[in-house]
Amino acid sequence: MTDAARKVTNWARSITYAVGEFHRPDTFDALRSVVAGSAKVRVLGSGHSFNRITDPGPEGVLVSLAGLPPLIDVDTAARTVRVSGGVRYAELARAVDARGLALSNMASLPHISVAGSLATGTHGSGVGNTPLAAAVREVELLTADGSTVSIGRGDAGFDGSVTSLGALGVVTALTLDLEPAYRVEQYVFTELPLEGLDFMAVAGAAYSVSLFTDWRRPGFRQVWVKRRTDQAPVDFPWAAPATEAMHPVPGMPAAHCTAQSGVPGPWHERLPHFRAEFTPSSGAEIQSEYLLPRSAATAALHAVDGVRETVAGVLRICEVRTVAADAQWLSPAHARDSVALHFTWVRDEAAVLPVVRRLEEALAPFEPRPHWGKVFGIPAARLRDRYPRLAGFRDLARSLDPAGTFTNAFVRDLLDG
Ligand SMILES: Cc1cc2nc3c(=O)[nH]c(=O)nc-3n(C[C@H](O)[C@H](O)[C@H](O)COP(=O)(O)OP(=O)(O)OC[C@H]3O[C@@H](n4cnc5c(N)ncnc54)[C@H](O)[C@@H]3O)c2cc1C
Repeated sequence: MTDAARKVTNWARSITYAVGEFHRPDTFDALRSVVAGSAKVRVLGSGHSFNRITDPGPEGVLVSLAGLPPLIDVDTAARTVRVSGGVRYAELARAVDARGLALSNMASLPHISVAGSLATGTHGSGVGNTPLAAAVREVELLTADGSTVSIGRGDAGFDGSVTSLGALGVVTALTLDLEPAYRVEQYVFTELPLEGLDFMAVAGAAYSVSLFTDWRRPGFRQVWVKRRTDQAPVDFPWAAPATEAMHPVPGMPAAHCTAQSGVPGPWHERLPHFRAEFTPSSGAEIQSEYLLPRSAATAALHAVDGVRETVAGVLRICEVRTVAADAQWLSPAHARDSVALHFTWVRDEAAVLPVVRRLEEALAPFEPRPHWGKVFGIPAARLRDRYPRLAGFRDLARSLDPAGTFTNAFVRDLLDG
């Protein structure tokens, strides 16, 4: 399907892509002929990014894989799943769980596409939990000349191939590691003070921990603690248990959230904060997120507290998580155990961008690496120094895509300045 005139926006409708043509092929051959016949191509996943990473530019072609037949092929003996490029985590998780298996972690929202999430370094929380890309054992790509390439764990270039910003080709399939299905209990605690916070003890209190605040006053309004039932019971002496189910954003309905109060449930119905069966409202929001060295967590939280009033004025909610170091060259958690400071802003770019700049000044001493799918203002020249394997990624992109078909302005700015 070609629709040259169509306006394509991201999920939040905060970005309208500059698109020469939009295609939604329904066969692999149709996809291949679109790619081989186009000079500039980007793939649209589920559109949950907040910047121009997905934008092909006014002369470019944007391709959605949503019309291709979905593939979710679980190998129970090998404990792996091969999943096609357009599938979302919610469908994948249900199929995997039905075979008695599980992913080791998930993001807060299950509606996001697997390939798009991995391309931007998407993560959940947990001191021992790497970004979602660490589960990948093989990537299958359709490259610009219409040929297919597989890169497996251990192959040259693999560590550049998963968190790839969509710059290597169309990810047509991925093979992911699985583990036996497990159950999780979710508890919410309220009003955790920032003063005297033992961040490592709090963040390590269970398999996955998230702290939420609106920064209207110091400290955290809620702490979400997700305990695997095959691990130690939760001992959380720092804050009081919530007395009712809660949504992290004040005023939003708790019914949209996964079950709390310690009711055990399947991994994929507890690790995300939001339930798959609710289509989230087309979010009137903008998001930013920064990954910093975990050892700096307390100092960084005090730095945000120092600009609290500025931040609070345009903030819906801030979430603090932990992410374990991984090996992907462009991962914001590359070789660095991290604390991730996430900000959901109101959808008012003019009001939000000056606050993002002020926040980035406050966080600058900690050398933050921004989430690739969210809004940031840190210049590419500064970011390049924070990615020691960036040159390796540049070489990989040039070898797989010598004509730069999958390069857009966002990627060019980062790689070439
Ligand atoms: C409500 C909400 C909650 C979120 N929660 C989290 C969270 O918990 N943790 C977190 O880290 N992030 C989170 N995010 C951010 C989100 O995970 C990322 O922005 C992610 O990239 C979204 O994937 P997508 O497919 O929707 O994005 P898209 O914008 O569609 O794609 C992102 C990138 O991937 C590329 N791409 C997509 N599919 C392919 C493909 N098949 N082949 C090649 N390139 C491809 C695109 O070209 C683009 O460069 C959240 C976002 C929202 C809106």
